[in-house]
This record gives sequence, C-alpha cells and structure tokens, in this order.
Amino acid sequence: MAEIKLEHITKRFGDVVAVDDINLEVHDQEFVVFLGPSGCGKTTTLRAIAGLEHPDEGDIFIDGKRVNALSPADRDIAFVFQFYALYPHLTVYDNIAFPLKAVKASKSEIQERVREVATILQIQEMLDRKPSHLSGGEMQRVALGRAMVRRPKAFLMDEPMSNLDAKLRVDMRTELKRLQHRLGATTIFVTHDQVEAMSMADRIVIMHQGSLQQIGTPHEVYNQPQTVFVAQFMGSPSMNLIDGTIQVQAALNPDATGGGQPALHLNHTDIRIELSAEQISRIGQSDEIIFGVRPEHIVVSQEPIEKGFTATVHLVEALGSVNIIDIFLGENSETGDIVLLRARTHPAFRPDVGQSVWFDFDAKQVHLFDRHTEQVIA
Ligand code: ATP
Repeated sequence: MAEIKLEHITKRFGDVVAVDDINLEVHDQEFVVFLGPSGCGKTTTLRAIAGLEHPDEGDIFIDGKRVNALSPADRDIAFVFQFYALYPHLTVYDNIAFPLKAVKASKSEIQERVREVATILQIQEMLDRKPSHLSGGEMQRVALGRAMVRRPKAFLMDEPMSNLDAKLRVDMRTELKRLQHRLGATTIFVTHDQVEAMSMADRIVIMHQGSLQQIGTPHEVYNQPQTVFVAQFMGSPSMNLIDGTIQVQAALNPDATGGGQPALHLNHTDIRIELSAEQISRIGQSDEIIFGVRPEHIVVSQEPIEKGFTATVHLVEALGSVNIIDIFLGENSETGDIVLLRARTHPAFRPDVGQSVWFDFDAKQVHLFDRHTEQVIA
C-alpha cells in the first residue's frame, strides 16, 4: 500500500488561506481521520493529495515519490465522496466494473476482480440489481467496491457517510474499519463528527482555520489536548474552560501559612486551586491562565468533601445514563456573564436547583493553558 507525506502544504483561494503550511506523514496501512469544523481546510487538503487541487507551496510524496506534477489518475489513489454517487442506469456489476472498463482491462480480469470485491463486501447476491433497488448501506458498499476494484495505493474519503441515517452510520463505521484492516489499505477519512473520528482513527489530525492543531491517537487528542481549540472541540459536553489568574496566597491572606505558594484563582469566583510544584514550574512567567477540566473528572457530592469546594446547583440535566449538573461558581459583575462548571454524574445523583453541593477535581486530570497563546502549559 502507501505512505503519504505532506511537506509545508499551503493553498490559497484569493485572500482565503484554505490550508496553511501543513506537515503530515501518514504511514503505510494507517487509518487517519481529518477532523475539524466546517471550512477548516479538510477537503482542500484531501483534494491536494488526490491531485484535484494544486498547492501554492509545498510538496506531496506518495511512497517517497514527489507527485505534485502527476495527474489524479497517475497518483493511483481512490477518492470516495459520498458513497451514493453511483450510475443509476448501470447494474451493481457494471458500476463496480466501470473503472476497469475505462482502462480497457480484459473481460476475464474484470470478472475476477468484481467477484473478488463483491465477496469482500458481501454484495455477491446484488450484482444484477440497479442502485434504485438497494438500501443506503448497500449503495455505500457498491461505491466502495468501485473504488477498491482498481486496487489503489490508498483511499481518500470525504464525509462518505453523511447521507446515511444515524443507525446505519454507526453500523457502517464498524464495517468500514474492519474492511480497512482486512485490506491493509492506507486511508484518509474526512469528517466533522468527532465520534466517527474517535471510533475509527488510528490517528486523528485536528484542523482549525487551515492549520494543523494536533495529530495524535484518539486517546491523546482527548486526554492531552495541546491547544484550547482541541480541548473544546473534543468531547460532549465539552471541557470546562475557565479564565484564571495565578496569585500568591500570602498576598491574599497575610495570615496564611505556606509562605507565598502560588495558587490559581478562577476569575469572578471564590475558587482557588493549589498547584503542584511541577505545574508551577511549567507555568513560568505567564499568570493569565485558562483552567480546563472535563465534566467526567469532577466529583460532586451532597456530603462535604475534605479540601473540596462548595457552591450551588444551577441546573440539572437528566440524560438517562448520566446527569449533567451545572454548578454556579460566580458572576462577572461588569458583563453579567455567569461562571459555571459542568459536571457529569451518576443518574442517581439528582440534587435540587439552588441546593449546595461539594465538588472537587481529579488533580491528575486538570489542564492549564496560556490565555494569550492558547497552548497547553501543564
Ligand atoms: P466542510 O467540512 O464544510 O467541507 P472543510 O474543512 O472541508 O469544510 P474546505 O472545503 O477545505 O473546508 O475549505 C477551506 C476554506 O477554503 C473555506 O474557507 C472555503 O470557503 C475555502 N474554499 C474552498 N474551496 C474553494 C474554492 N474553490 N474557491 C474559493 N474558496 C474555497
């Protein structure tokens, strides 16, 4: 199969920088997902790899060979858009055979390859049907078969499941991942659906405004976000992100013991969080911080928690398998904005709105970002 390498790829459309200096190596047989909000440059990057867009700067390599000047057909890569794009007047057999007929393959070779692909995709029984007599999932498999039959070096897939209903999407996710393993096919898959990305990717490439924010395994991008954007984008409900300021405790309370140990004050609240020596050393000079903690890493209780915090419940959302509890931390008196902390709890935990609760953070699971650079610091 294939290794794909991008070096300093930039693509502009007039004043819009669609892709901004992207560097990336996709390994042989790897399943990489491009993830990001609409307009972040996912499709443009994919089209550049396919040869459908020409980058203004940078080089693209497939298996070590620079392919900038090669036409899409000569790159030996299959581009799969939405799986529905079938020829309605042709049978399933002829739809799959189409790319081989186009290159004038022999009849016996076409027959052999179509049967092979149909067996892998389990659509042998449907070869004589027209697309109008197929379900959405079956049509999707036929379109995939049409891409596979050429035995390309790699597959590029642009939101291929966006037309499917939610249940079928979940089924196809599993099926596609299994198929990719079986074929050992290098695959780049574009989506803006984080669950799709988390469930299928070996590595996720998170993009924002044309730039690459982070590359990592699903576990890494979820648990060790390198930027505020990634922290906020991954997870539902998203990570709590609260502005904070580093303060020396002795200055706040001259009677306090501990001789000037810095702590993080969450702005517009009474919450002060003690920091570990390691966190303090990493923070260095910056004192304007964004504090981040995921809803599932907050412990909430109706009983006092030693060294914990107390505040009132603002809202309770019962979602069946979990509850989301909004805890009121304070209010910005200038803007009127309230500062809330969203915690995920067991469904049996149902405090009343306005009730006082105790809470604490899992110290190993808090994230600190520099407010100016929006990069992680600890
Ligand atoms: P989506 O998820 O909505 O498909 P995307 O992340 O794939 O978005 P791109 O389609 O790559 O984003 O677009 C990146 C930026 O480039 C956007 O601002 C888009 O408007 C712009 N763009 C893309 N193609 C063109 C074009 N042919 N002409 C002008 N601008 C374009």
